[in-house]
Amino acid sequence: MCGYGALFTGVLRQSGGMQTAIDIMRAGNLDRAYCFIFGGYHTYPDSGHNYCVLHPLAAAVRYAQGCGFARVLIVDWDHHHGDGTQTIFASDPSVYCISIHSAADLYMARAVGLAQGMTSAAAAVGHGNIPLLNAAYSDEFGEQMGLAGRFYQAHESLSVVEETLNQLPWHPDLICIFSGYDAHIDDCGRDISNWTDDDFRRLTMLVLDLAHQLACQVFSVHNGGYNLPVTIAAAVSHVEVLAGYQGSS
Ligand SMILES: [Zn+2]
Repeated sequence: MCGYGALFTGVLRQSGGMQTAIDIMRAGNLDRAYCFIFGGYHTYPDSGHNYCVLHPLAAAVRYAQGCGFARVLIVDWDHHHGDGTQTIFASDPSVYCISIHSAADLYMARAVGLAQGMTSAAAAVGHGNIPLLNAAYSDEFGEQMGLAGRFYQAHESLSVVEETLNQLPWHPDLICIFSGYDAHIDDCGRDISNWTDDDFRRLTMLVLDLAHQLACQVFSVHNGGYNLPVTIAAAVSHVEVLAGYQGSS
């Protein structure tokens, strides 16, 4: 099988793997899972977008809800905006999406999607999107791109994620991490997020501390990364914390 046939076969296999992980978690036999898949976060409800044709993570969220995980938090720290994810769940108060991303890489997102692509639950507290912007960009940049609101710089990024996690509209029953590694300082993230391997550990710890506090299971899926050695090192950093977490420090 080749072309789209192979693509769809791959997506179905990915979805099956994610559903198996959710089944095991729902049975109470696993607190945290990592799926080496491509989540499809740019895919819209009615169309593919950029590299994404289908959205296995959105399907997994719906599957998880059908298994009893009623309210799902998605934390997306890929360098690029999770426009498809947010659009899919835009009118669904049972899913809360947080996307911390580069505001300067809008070629991956539709500006209208970025402006409107906030879930209703996120809009209620106003923290669904965390756009990062290098201080070197002019104040007019946002206006030119049709954007408004607060932009954050690299040195603020981890603290604003922590603040956002502390202001959820409800307690989630399941937390999904959309773990993109292209925000690494040695990938696309230089002068935007500037994250190192230690920062990916810290991000993971922030989510796991919240999950520990709420007695909530965590389901992480692999995503972006264009520099393979950097991506591998960052992913290993994330998975090490995910696998070895023993509780709040
Ligand atoms: Zn990305």
